[in-house]
Amino acid sequence: MQRVGRSIHAAFPTRPRHPLRALDVKAMEMAAEDQELRAALFRFVDVTPACTSFEDLARHLTAYLGEVDERPPPIEAAMRMSGTKPGRAALGAAAAAGVRHMAHRFIVGETPGAALRHIRRLWDHGAAVSLDLLGEATVTQPEADRYAARCLDALETLAEAAPRWPERPVLERDSLGSLPRVNVSVKVSALSPLLRPEAPEVGRDDAARRMRPLLLRAKQLGAHLHIDMESVDTLEATMQLVFEVLDEPRLRDGPSTGIVLQAYLRESPEQLEQVIAWAQSARREPPLVVRLVKGAYWDHEVVEARQHGWTPPVFERKSESDRNFELLTRRLLDGWPHVRPAIASHNLRSVAHAVAANRAAGRSDQDLELQVLRGLGDDLAAALADEGMRVRIYCPVGDMVAGMAYLVRRLLENTANESFLSDLQRGVGVEELLAAP
Ligand SMILES: Cc1cc2nc3c(=O)[nH]c(=O)nc-3n(C[C@H](O)[C@H](O)[C@H](O)COP(=O)(O)OP(=O)(O)OC[C@H]3O[C@@H](n4cnc5c(N)ncnc54)[C@H](O)[C@@H]3O)c2cc1C
Repeated sequence: MQRVGRSIHAAFPTRPRHPLRALDVKAMEMAAEDQELRAALFRFVDVTPACTSFEDLARHLTAYLGEVDERPPPIEAAMRMSGTKPGRAALGAAAAAGVRHMAHRFIVGETPGAALRHIRRLWDHGAAVSLDLLGEATVTQPEADRYAARCLDALETLAEAAPRWPERPVLERDSLGSLPRVNVSVKVSALSPLLRPEAPEVGRDDAARRMRPLLLRAKQLGAHLHIDMESVDTLEATMQLVFEVLDEPRLRDGPSTGIVLQAYLRESPEQLEQVIAWAQSARREPPLVVRLVKGAYWDHEVVEARQHGWTPPVFERKSESDRNFELLTRRLLDGWPHVRPAIASHNLRSVAHAVAANRAAGRSDQDLELQVLRGLGDDLAAALADEGMRVRIYCPVGDMVAGMAYLVRRLLENTANESFLSDLQRGVGVEELLAAP
């Protein structure tokens, strides 16, 4: 098992090797310590795909960095380089390479076909994946059609390759039965441009007509389709969409499907009760998978609510989200066998609590799935695979333009003041990291 874990690192090294990899890690470390620098770098990453030349990139980079009052020495050096045309070209090239390296840390390939080799290596070394097609909220119907077609292609491509993967009983079976090798995550906001809180039923119906063929194909292929959760204004439409479509007679007995519950939401305990009640009455076969996360849109939810003078729908102290995550973990484990629990976190305390609670409930480790994001949770995935746990790595696929919103979210997470990973990076001690929230 030790060997298996180390091989995951070999397949997906996250530690700096190439000098440019060191550069993007350094940029993230500096950004974690300085709010102004962090904002400047995020704005730069966001604008990168629209830049037409290295000079253009350098101009944007220095314009954003120029707004930072106290610039660390490497940033000062970059500013000085921008004084001449060749300097700007060199700076632009280095910046482009830096962003590309950062993106490759989180994004597994440009297409499902291109990602197959990596997915196979992860499988060989003890980790399953869920493939995510990058491309956030769509604004036109043809864009939504294209997204649905890409999801279909991902299902087909993985299903064609998966039979050649070697047997991995830990990843393929729990005590309720078999688990699909092929697993794709989809976003409802990408399946319809009409998803609006003012008229949820319009977006829901539009997304449903693209989700149905995906579910039916997943059923034929024996694949799993997971519906991600996004900002709170699409939550109701997403939950209703999933319940309604899965209640249709031809989808009651498959495919394996999952939804996401966000523990940072104040109303998440009620939402989990709704999910468990639905799962108990639907008696779906195979059971619904519930991926428990803390939630990736915290800044967005707080800013949006404050702009309207509302109380944010999310907890405002991280310890509240952490505590709620543990509470929901225990409730989710109670929902077995009507729901299959998937605990998605990079926080060692949250993960350890889930493993301990599952064992305390008298269940085998085999009946608990642990999930991490590619690029953020590789070390944890390796350690959990070493322990013989079932691990799934969420692997985004797509091009740089489509990937920018995803990349910015992951960078926000990695450099946030309140995050397990930034605490770990800052050298906070193990006892404090593992303390009850
Ligand atoms: C496999 C996988 C799939 C995922 N899918 C989704 C998805 O579909 N939808 C989605 O929204 N997210 C998703 N996420 C992201 C997830 O919601 C978290 O953003 C991420 O995992 C960080 O949480 P953590 O437990 O790993 O880390 P931690 O550092 O323990 O927690 C960080 C989280 O705490 C919360 N938080 C931070 N500051 C505060 C504060 N001041 N007050 C209250 N809460 C705060 C935020 O949710 C933040 O993301 C997924 C994560 C994984 C691993």
